[in-house]
Amino acid sequence: MNREPSIGFVSLGCPKALVDSEHILTRLRAEGYAIAPSYEAADLVVVNTCGFIDAAVTESLDAIGEALDANGRVIVTGCLGAKDHVVRDLHPRVLAVTGPHACEAVMDAIHVHLPRPHDPFLDLLPPQGVKLTPQHYAYLKIAEGCNHRCAFCIIPQLRGDLVSRPVGEVLQEAEMLAQAGVKELLIISQDTSAYGVDVRYRTGFWNGRPLKTHLTPLAAALGELGVWVRLHYVYPYPHVDELIPLMAEGRLLPYLDVPLQHASPRILKAMKRPANRDDTLERIRRWRAICPDLILRSTFIVGFPGETEDDFGQLLDFLSEAQLDRVGCFTYSPVKGAPANALPDPIPEAIKQERQARLMALQAAISAERLRARIGQILTVLVDAIDEEEGMAIARSTADAPEIDGQVYVEDGAQLPVGAFAQVRIVDADEHDLYADLLNTH
Ligand code: SF4
Repeated sequence: MNREPSIGFVSLGCPKALVDSEHILTRLRAEGYAIAPSYEAADLVVVNTCGFIDAAVTESLDAIGEALDANGRVIVTGCLGAKDHVVRDLHPRVLAVTGPHACEAVMDAIHVHLPRPHDPFLDLLPPQGVKLTPQHYAYLKIAEGCNHRCAFCIIPQLRGDLVSRPVGEVLQEAEMLAQAGVKELLIISQDTSAYGVDVRYRTGFWNGRPLKTHLTPLAAALGELGVWVRLHYVYPYPHVDELIPLMAEGRLLPYLDVPLQHASPRILKAMKRPANRDDTLERIRRWRAICPDLILRSTFIVGFPGETEDDFGQLLDFLSEAQLDRVGCFTYSPVKGAPANALPDPIPEAIKQERQARLMALQAAISAERLRARIGQILTVLVDAIDEEEGMAIARSTADAPEIDGQVYVEDGAQLPVGAFAQVRIVDADEHDLYADLLNTH
């Protein structure tokens, strides 16, 4: 009997790249290719790369080299694929290189080097496609590319301007995921608030119902599916205010991941990010007045060229006032091709590290206090995994996104099914995580 042609797959990078990997894997399974568990068992290996920062480029180039050594037949795709020469200079043996969000181009390259089997396994394909996340949560990408031109970023060069997916298509995918048992949808794109601006918010259709291609109606419709809906990469445009009442009503998770990057107007200007520190603080105050349970996550860059001690002090003051729940902090590192590389006054590495440590120490105290305030609360959590040895369930509340935020450790929760909701009482907290007693399952 002929064996199915078999593809090895390596997926690197951010959730957006993960969604691209899911689309490619879905297409491969739809066409009857097998997914190989090891390089040796594969007829060909696809490496979906990341090219965002230099460390990611190195990791991607290493992964390509490893696949070439172990298998010899490698197709490269993803963000680094946009820089064809970087890949080919180091690894001239790769069979093909395609860019990010190029499912068709990867499939064409695969067809050339490993012809598709005669009898596609369409019937065996789950309607929601192949998912790389656990069964109970899924990333839902609503747009690709970005219209901003932040000085430190090359995403627009790699992925182009914003292109929104049709609203009906997004909702159909969300509905299929919910029907397949997904309990939490994580909405992602480069700039989620900008959804629809490229098509002038045109009206689309979902199950015969007219809906604007705009974040507010999309989020409201997602809120009807009966699953957790969590919004990521929401830049604070004015219309984001419209989402807060939906969160207060329990239709969306009271959670916003707002990438602010800095608080000093001078640095924000140099970064080419349209923002105003006082406006942002005022907005946060208004949001919390409408939805007191709102959890805010953000990311910041310290050590951007020209950042003075005063600029950095303004950032610390902002954090003290804003009292954000979760914060990620990166030291600035130049990315090949980014306009910020030409800026004067680079900050020495030691100062960058020192500022990062000071920021994280301040934020750790804020996060710890905000978590401590939750001791005694009764919360609904979603079980991610079981720790058999400790007899605990490892879960998350509405305040915690998978992978990036903290966890809720549920005592005596080992019998809970993964993907189930449960009610717990919070009994303890540290800087990152919560500890809870099990009350009941939903
Ligand atoms: S908003 Fe700025 S940082 Fe984010 S993807 Fe667009 S250009 Fe890059």
